[in-house]
Amino acid sequence: MFDTILIANRGEIACRVARTARAMGVRVVAVYSDADAAAAHVAAADVAVHIGGSAPADSYLRGDAIIAAAQATGAQAIHPGYGFLSENPDFVDAVEAAGLTFIGPSADAIRKMGLKDAAKALMEEAGVPVVPGYHGSNQDPEHLSGAADTIGYPVLIKAVAGGGGKGMRLVERPQDFMDALESAKGEARTAFGNADVLIEKYIQKPRHIEVQVFGDGTRAVHLFERDCSLQRRHQKVIEEAPAPGMTAEMRAAMGQAAVRAAEAIGYNGAGTVEFIVDGSRGLRPDGFWFMEMNTRLQVEHPVTEAITGVDLVEWQLRVAAGESLPAQQEDLTIDGHSFEARLYAEDVPKGFLPATGTLAHLEFPQGARSDSGVRAGDTISPFYDPMIAKIITHGPTRDVALSRMRAALAGCQVAGTVTNLGFLSALCAHRGFAAGEVDTGLIARDLDTLVQVPAPRPADWAQAAMVALGLGEDLPGDAGFSLWSPLVRSVALRFGDDEQVARVALAGPDAATVHVADAQVAARRVAGAWTFDGLPPVPAIRTGALVTLFRDAGLGFDVIDPLDRAAAAGAGGNLIEAPMPGLVKAVFAKAGQHVSAGDRLAVLEAMKMEHSLLAARDGVVAEVLAEAGAQVEAGAALIRLEDEEDAAA
Ligand code: ADP
Ligand code: ADP
Ligand code: MG
Repeated sequence: MFDTILIANRGEIACRVARTARAMGVRVVAVYSDADAAAAHVAAADVAVHIGGSAPADSYLRGDAIIAAAQATGAQAIHPGYGFLSENPDFVDAVEAAGLTFIGPSADAIRKMGLKDAAKALMEEAGVPVVPGYHGSNQDPEHLSGAADTIGYPVLIKAVAGGGGKGMRLVERPQDFMDALESAKGEARTAFGNADVLIEKYIQKPRHIEVQVFGDGTRAVHLFERDCSLQRRHQKVIEEAPAPGMTAEMRAAMGQAAVRAAEAIGYNGAGTVEFIVDGSRGLRPDGFWFMEMNTRLQVEHPVTEAITGVDLVEWQLRVAAGESLPAQQEDLTIDGHSFEARLYAEDVPKGFLPATGTLAHLEFPQGARSDSGVRAGDTISPFYDPMIAKIITHGPTRDVALSRMRAALAGCQVAGTVTNLGFLSALCAHRGFAAGEVDTGLIARDLDTLVQVPAPRPADWAQAAMVALGLGEDLPGDAGFSLWSPLVRSVALRFGDDEQVARVALAGPDAATVHVADAQVAARRVAGAWTFDGLPPVPAIRTGALVTLFRDAGLGFDVIDPLDRAAAAGAGGNLIEAPMPGLVKAVFAKAGQHVSAGDRLAVLEAMKMEHSLLAARDGVVAEVLAEAGAQVEAGAALIRLEDEEDAAA
């Protein structure tokens, strides 16, 4: 076994690989970019080497820097994770030329599977069923459109170099073919530097079922299938193993085809053979076709681990170190059912836009496996995939595993960024999905109901107000509460575009009335915990100016700082001043910059709180008078705007 390996990746997969390696007594070297200097995967390693700037091209894609780091730290092997350099055969060649071991398949096997057209031709030869279509070299548009006519509509145009669902177009009618071809080719050229496409029959009610294989360079075994049909725009959202409705006959046929595919290219290590399945007539042994092979450890490998009890990373290390396959086909069995949900920082109502933010609070549920590359306090930066975690559950049956997933999602607590938790929960509550009726169109068909954002109830507003005022748990007695005069305090909160001022009237240590959003909510403290209109409290936390209630996907309320308003309203003039003595935490304005009323120009920390200082009007910054880190007096001028007349001139 290796004594030291380097992991050429980041995030959850780097942490995942490190966990197994260290458990095997193997020393782990991490590499990191500027943005990742304090990242979880660095902390998970024994040694870490800085390899460059935050953009992937400046760090995680720099094969030379990674190989140099391996040599400098005495690593004998490199694990590529997924993405980045994992399927780059030139990198594999370079690793081997440097006398190191690549933990994965040979460069030759990666090249053979790298282009979808060549892979399909090869698989056809090996007797693996492939999706009917045209995967020849003639790229003349007329020829391709003729091929589409022969195949019969609907057809799918696919970039031969494609990945991640890019460069793919579904065409329903012949008259749309040419436009779709042009846009697929354009996207493929930009994303992969290769505009070539193939044409495939579009399978009706498609299901994506893939087979995990593992080879030693000569022989291969399969570790059964995963169903990844829950997709949004050809991207996997929830995966499971085994596939619902799978028959022993079809499983055997698919397993054999996948092993044949792997052995045909002398596959070494973990790989996945992806098939498309016609779900319109049930699962039949003659109803699956090869789509492509992913020559790496896959994102969704944990569901296979859950049902087989195999640690795929351990197998990768052992086989790369020269051991033979750790198990024979007949040793492998399926135990129960497993689901994986991909938790992302993304703004679902805004079209699943990737989000960024600092995870003020992060807690994963009990009773589930959580593979993550971030911790509370870490930042989801714009440089990389915004995945927060993969949540994996296992159970004796599909129903049990799915209800464990529902519970696990309900137990995820994320504050500081929007997430797709609500969407994942809605999916896990979807009737068709629960019944095992999965196909790749499910999400798109029911998108409207799946993306509904829960609106806070008056009880939620009331609880948020109490938490914002620090009245969530502690006795208000110390805060000046007296029996004979009910204490009234107010706080302004914002949920989305909805802004409300909540008034909390305390009527004793265990009772209060909250007036908010045209409602009146009775708060009562029972056994130390507040209830709201009789509803039990939801777990809640205040982090800075954000109150998060962990109900559904998490309800985030901004606490509106009255000082923001004061600053905005008060300083009609040119100066942005410190409203109180404090520490300048950050200055966002630069001289010459155009700002709009309401823009955040600086942050002042005072009285243990952060206060945003906003521009009171549109204008141009004339001068920045204070730097981050400066201690300032009340009334100190921090930023000066140009006179309005000057700016107009
Ligand atoms: P999986 O089938 O494992 O879910 P994905 O398609 O989600 O695979 O991709 C897994 C990882 O590989 C992601 O990080 C994705 O960005 C990366 N990836 C997939 N295809 C390519 C490609 N052609 N080029 C670069 N990265 C890719
Ligand atoms: P990528 O390299 O982007 O992962 P794939 O060839 O694996 O591309 O296809 C991605 C997804 O597109 C599949 O999981 C499936 O949902 C859909 N798809 C691919 N081929 C077909 C087909 N012939 N018919 C229907 N859907 C397909
Ligand atoms: Mg694929």
